[in-house]
Amino acid sequence: MVAMQECIFCKISSGELPAKIVYTDRDVIAFEDINKEAPVHVLVIPKKHIPGANKVDKGNIELLGRLVYVASKIAKDKKIESSGYRLVINSGKDAGQDVLHMHLHLLGGRKFTWPPG
Ligand code: 5GP
Ligand code: ZN
Repeated sequence: MVAMQECIFCKISSGELPAKIVYTDRDVIAFEDINKEAPVHVLVIPKKHIPGANKVDKGNIELLGRLVYVASKIAKDKKIESSGYRLVINSGKDAGQDVLHMHLHLLGGRKFTWPPG
């Protein structure tokens, strides 16, 4: 497991690394993805280091609901609420999770295919 002091998303949430922050509160921060896959591509993360979906437990279950809630508010701000958007959590190797700090991708501003690639 990546140590928290080496985690890029922990560094973004503490302000040690720069990012284009679009939302922040006590527990959640959201920022523009550095390599956008869609016109809107924002990452919504817990400030607390949770490595991924496998590490969700009863102690942080409510926090994860808040990630979706915050994403829906950002979708409204970005005016993609009615056109639609996709929320993605990659978990592990097969899904292509690169950063081992749990994050919700908010993707929108274009049409997506289903099933995903
Ligand atoms: P994953 O593949 O783990 O689900 O997604 C990681 C995401 O983090 C990718 O979309 C990647 O572009 C983004 N990312 C990686 N490093 C940085 C960074 O330093 N800053 C920002 N803003 N996004 C990053
Ligand atoms: Zn982290």
